[in-house]
Amino acid sequence: MSEGSSSTTSVVEEERLNWRRGSGPESGDVVVYWMQQAQRAEHNPALEFAITTANDHDLPVAVVFCLVDDVPEASLRHYHFMVEGLHRLDGALRRRGMAFEVLRGQPDRILGDLNHRMALLVLDRGYLPMQRRWRDDVEEATDCPVVEVETDVVVPVDVASDKLETAARTLRPRIHDHLERFLVDLATTPVSRSSVPGGDRPVSLARSLSDSSISSFPLDRWRTELDELPISREPGPVAGWTGGTPAARARLRAFCRDVLPDYATRRNRYDVADSCSRLSPYLHFGQISPVAVAVAARSSGAPADEVDAFVEELVVRRELAINYVVHQPDVDSFTSLPRWARRTLDDHRADERPTVYTAAELEAGKTDDRVWNAIMTAIRTDGWVHNQLRMYWGKQILYWTNTPGHAFRTLLDLNNRYFLDGRDANSYANVAWCFGRHDQGFQEREVIGKLRPFTDAALRRKGDLDAWVDSVTGGDDQAG
Ligand SMILES: Cc1cc2nc3c(=O)[nH]c(=O)nc-3n(C[C@H](O)[C@H](O)[C@H](O)COP(=O)(O)OP(=O)(O)OC[C@H]3O[C@@H](n4cnc5c(N)ncnc54)[C@H](O)[C@@H]3O)c2cc1C
Repeated sequence: MSEGSSSTTSVVEEERLNWRRGSGPESGDVVVYWMQQAQRAEHNPALEFAITTANDHDLPVAVVFCLVDDVPEASLRHYHFMVEGLHRLDGALRRRGMAFEVLRGQPDRILGDLNHRMALLVLDRGYLPMQRRWRDDVEEATDCPVVEVETDVVVPVDVASDKLETAARTLRPRIHDHLERFLVDLATTPVSRSSVPGGDRPVSLARSLSDSSISSFPLDRWRTELDELPISREPGPVAGWTGGTPAARARLRAFCRDVLPDYATRRNRYDVADSCSRLSPYLHFGQISPVAVAVAARSSGAPADEVDAFVEELVVRRELAINYVVHQPDVDSFTSLPRWARRTLDDHRADERPTVYTAAELEAGKTDDRVWNAIMTAIRTDGWVHNQLRMYWGKQILYWTNTPGHAFRTLLDLNNRYFLDGRDANSYANVAWCFGRHDQGFQEREVIGKLRPFTDAALRRKGDLDAWVDSVTGGDDQAG
């Protein structure tokens, strides 16, 4: 049940902290926060913990972001949105008295090279395999105290559950047991020792680097610097999306005012512009905090049932996805799917498919299904589509590929390369959902066996499908 108001704290909950080495600052002249998951200067428990600890030890805080240019499946589409956000963050951190440096290179090389400066290294927690690997490598490359802070969930993952949850129904009561305790607004703590140029303890970490392969990424020239990065240029940036916390905050305000008051009835309307928050890319890059979003929703004055419906998506569904990637190995592999789902797909392996398309035909949206083609076009162009359209899009691929394993790989690849919110815990959990994860068996059918079907008739019940397809194609689409 939602409650109207929430309190504010300046203390980061003990359950968000994991001391990976040591228990407080030791020798070194600065507390360094290596920002990775939580790319924001507000409502960020890792940042606030770094500040309060530094203040207690009369130390300055500096924030470092390691720009890695070989992240699998990431392209200019994602880098543009992220770096635009970092550019806005630069000003916000400086205004709070903290030096912010974006350094190009692998996190373990950069932080290993800065080891001698760090009285304490603060990390934010990341859940995906690559994020976990980065943190393990950084811990190994340093010998200073290291604390990891859980920044991007409402209920800390290990507090909610210590095992792989079967479905939303099993995680929901566990989340609700702790929700009130963790749905608390986090206050900002003033920095005692300013580390910005002109402050009383200016810090330049870039000047202490000895590894010449590491270079600075100047945010004041971010657009031209992006042109130089050796990253995939396709797909490119999407129009209509501005990266960064100010844009996320503006979107949240508009959502709470215009959409939330009837979110429960409107949220499945894929054919109207504003039926949901469209915050997923901002949540993915940590440009807004899920706690701050939930607190804003609760204090918006929207009816309790509507707020509860939103909290169900934002907290229960989103944190179910995080539980999945934390506890399920090989989330990028078909073998990660539940046994019943693999078995039923195996039973139907030999069923005749209506048509088999190549991965390139699917990517280009060249099938005989005009609805699917329009969705794929929107994904390529806009980098985001409504959840209902994603469900139809994901479920169809099984019919058009010769093996379920190939269907799984194709869907995950398209999802992660094209969606602005791709490469997220939600990406892996929802692609897996198309193949039975967090779901139950249904009446057996050709090709998909006991998996839940999702037809265009379901889309037609929820909105004006033809009008939506026309809005994408301009009415002159051709299948095939
Ligand atoms: C095949 C398929 C692929 C998907 N791929 C992604 C992906 O790559 N990245 C991604 O973030 N989401 C993915 N989703 C989940 C969902 O479609 C998006 O999170 C949602 O559409 C984002 O829109 P919104 O921010 O307006 O959501 P809102 O309705 O405003 O909900 C608020 C937030 O709740 C969370 N949420 C909403 N729906 C879900 C859900 N089904 N599962 C988990 N969390 C949810 C999101 O963080 C979302 O931003 C996928 C769903 C499907 C069916």
